[in-house]
Amino acid sequence: MANTKGQIGVTTENIFPVIKQFLYSDHEIFLRELVANAVDAGQKLKALASAGTFKGETGDIKVQIDLDEKKKTLSITDNGIGMTADEVDRYINQIAFSSAGEFLEKYKDQTNIIGHFGLGFYSAFMVAKKVTIDSLSWQEGAEAVKWTCDGSPEFTMGESKKKDRGTTVTLHFDDESAAEFGTKGKIRSLLDKYCKFMPVPVIFGKKTEWKDGKSVETAEDDVINSIDPIWTKAPSELKDEDYLNFYKALYPMEEEPMFWIHLNVDYPFTLTGVLYFPKIKERMAIDKNKIQLYCNQMFVTDHVDNIVPDFLTLLHGVIDSPDIPLNVSRSYLQSDANVKKISTYITKKVADRLEEIFKEQRSQYEEKWDNIKLFIEYGMLSDEKFCERAMNFALFKNTDGKFFAFDDYRKAIEGSQTDKDKRTVYLYATDKEAQWGDIEAAKNLGYDVLLMDCELDSHFVNMLEQKLKDARFARVDSDTADNLIPKEEKVKPQMSDDDKKALEELVKGALPEGNDYRVEPENLGADAAPIILTQSEFMRRWREMSALGGGMNFYGSMPEAYDVKVNMENPVMARIWSDREGSKDLLRQVVDLALLSKGMLKGKALSEFIARSEKLLS
Ligand code: ADP
Repeated sequence: MANTKGQIGVTTENIFPVIKQFLYSDHEIFLRELVANAVDAGQKLKALASAGTFKGETGDIKVQIDLDEKKKTLSITDNGIGMTADEVDRYINQIAFSSAGEFLEKYKDQTNIIGHFGLGFYSAFMVAKKVTIDSLSWQEGAEAVKWTCDGSPEFTMGESKKKDRGTTVTLHFDDESAAEFGTKGKIRSLLDKYCKFMPVPVIFGKKTEWKDGKSVETAEDDVINSIDPIWTKAPSELKDEDYLNFYKALYPMEEEPMFWIHLNVDYPFTLTGVLYFPKIKERMAIDKNKIQLYCNQMFVTDHVDNIVPDFLTLLHGVIDSPDIPLNVSRSYLQSDANVKKISTYITKKVADRLEEIFKEQRSQYEEKWDNIKLFIEYGMLSDEKFCERAMNFALFKNTDGKFFAFDDYRKAIEGSQTDKDKRTVYLYATDKEAQWGDIEAAKNLGYDVLLMDCELDSHFVNMLEQKLKDARFARVDSDTADNLIPKEEKVKPQMSDDDKKALEELVKGALPEGNDYRVEPENLGADAAPIILTQSEFMRRWREMSALGGGMNFYGSMPEAYDVKVNMENPVMARIWSDREGSKDLLRQVVDLALLSKGMLKGKALSEFIARSEKLLS
């Protein structure tokens, strides 16, 4: 075959600078692209063999990577279908390079190209100053062909000495790329990242072993990938152990996952994968880039945030789909119809699995609740569809550690916890220790108190109030126990406005400064405490939400506001009121007791209280 010269159909004068400039941060994907082509060539040959078109021996289909650190070359060799001179002309000169031209034209003005896309063969020019292809086609009588290109739009094509079927692509690194990619360690790590699960064995050097205190090469090829990872298998073939081992291989440092979901769909899109539920205790402590996206076993990215709803990024595992478009911008990705379907599908599958565990393994589900609660609440708060489903399998936990499904809980409390306006009142505590007294008081009235001590609970309570019909949530310390669920209108003490004012001044004078107080005379019965401090549910919630970053900083910066209920039916209070001058110490004592019961009496005030108590006792 005579040597030919030709011009590649790219309008750009010199393809290197353009490709480099555009894809700067992603140079390393050249290796994935070339190995993927080599894997494809092998699989195509297998397909031809099984169709009977190729009648020869396929041998063991594989891909071999060779690095020559001195010569600064890297070659990728496959024993797949190979290419004839004609095909090189068609697929490389015309298609590969014209699509390079198109690609550059298309993305010239776009700065946020998705980090990873199918760049194909020409991505080799991101790192190489010269690329050669030696190829021998599977077709009978084919002649080996050599193609060389130094990155200018010119190439040469001629005879090659290649004897075996298949293709070798050789990259001659430029100096900068040789420094970055020209070491065994670097190539190994790239193969690990991108090719770990490719479906044809990928060989890089020989296995090593320890002999006489040093590492020596053995005769055995070092295959860097596992060609049939578990997500490609049928769930019925797999045991728990297989899932756990795969998880360990993916995340060697992580604690064992709690459970997993095997995804497997082929219509209306193709998607396989395994998603794992890690133990999730704190949202902030979770690394969100733990789901890996593959395309036919080729690693694409570990940033799936535009592909699955945000709450699902708390999960770990692998998703493999050829139907997720790779060469588009991230914002486009979210509006892609397939991506939307995929996202809906995964959300549904996750809900199905949780519901299944809820129904079939209730006690295990309850045991794991503390570790999945955050995930489920986050999902319910951020995804309407998931919320609808999760209303069936989310749990309440009460202050005694008992679990209830939402519907069951409502049925259990409806009788005793419905107020005069026919609303069911869900009582909850956020801190079992600090609110112990209030919890006990509520329980003594036959009420149940939920524990809502998770970081999202204040948002969650708001959301539930909107979802649950005729229901309201009240923190157990937001009012006196018998006022939490008012059954009838209370008769207020009969007092003149002047008296009310005097009472307010009197009590405020004994309260610590810096807070807002709303003093209200009440008839709470002779046995109830003389003074009771509560914090309004409404104000407290706004404050908590603004602390969580809800953007309502106005409330966050306001002084704390307390309701001060003065129980005029309490005999001590009655005494203080009738002898204001003579019972200053007693008033202070009564106020301090109210503060003490809320954990608000500290430091100097606490020592003064103790000293005063001793004086009163003596
Ligand atoms: P893509 O793989 O997306 O089609 P590429 O630019 O990577 O685009 O490759 C263009 C074409 O060149 C491929 O479709 C294939 O026909 C051919 N090709 C590339 N590498 C090989 C190879 N190692 N063996 C056989 N054919 C190849």
